[in-house]
Amino acid sequence: MISHVRCKLTIAIAVAALLPITELAALQDQYAFHRRAMVDLIANRGVIDSATLAAMRAVPRHEFVPTEQRRRAYADHPLPIGYGQTISQPYIVAFMTEILEPHPGMKVLEVGTGSGYQAAVLAQIGCDVFTVEIFEALANSASERLNRLGFQVTSRHADGHFGWSEEAPFDVVIVTAAAGYIPPALVEQLKPGGRMVIPVGSVYGIQNLLLVEKDQEGQVATRNLLPVRFVPMLSGRR
Ligand code: SAH
Repeated sequence: MISHVRCKLTIAIAVAALLPITELAALQDQYAFHRRAMVDLIANRGVIDSATLAAMRAVPRHEFVPTEQRRRAYADHPLPIGYGQTISQPYIVAFMTEILEPHPGMKVLEVGTGSGYQAAVLAQIGCDVFTVEIFEALANSASERLNRLGFQVTSRHADGHFGWSEEAPFDVVIVTAAAGYIPPALVEQLKPGGRMVIPVGSVYGIQNLLLVEKDQEGQVATRNLLPVRFVPMLSGRR
């Protein structure tokens, strides 16, 4: 009798546990479906780099947005992540990643960790990613999230205007906040032959996305790529 009751109980617990698992799987399928659609849209808009597209097909963007924003995670828009900051629009993430000509082993400095999504896309490609965030709370939550999801990224809480001298030089630098000028330390920390992508201009309006290239002799050339709108690059302790 007792074993019969225990058996029934075990079945009930198993069914109760199973239900959420199937629901979870259905939800994951939905996310994967929307993620594929998001990447198709990005490809239709002209991004062709296969490493970039494959990485964005793999990284679960919904894990990088607040719970209440999850159903919008795969729309082509920036989304709020707290502290007045945003996770960038997927198309812009793809465009900037492609410009860097990313490949495994490439040493990258990112300024503006935010949610950690851009860093995860670069890590997924196999880049050696170092990322700096000025808000301590965002730096901590992004680092926890990247660890939990298994992305190998080195992060720290600091003002990215000064780069990361202990880890320099970098093959590429990506700045994901709007700068009023190109920070000299970031140019210094680029390898000869290196490239940097950075939005520069009016920090509360429209900026130009610039490609800064350093040749083998250390000469720097700048090219204007696209009008963009990023949150401002800040200074000081936060
Ligand atoms: N790359 C991010 C998007 C970040 S939005 C992502 O994938 O989610 C820009 C980020 O830059 C914000 O988190 C902001 O706090 C940070 N930021 C602004 N000024 C900074 C600075 N001087 N140094 C480092 N991070 C900065």
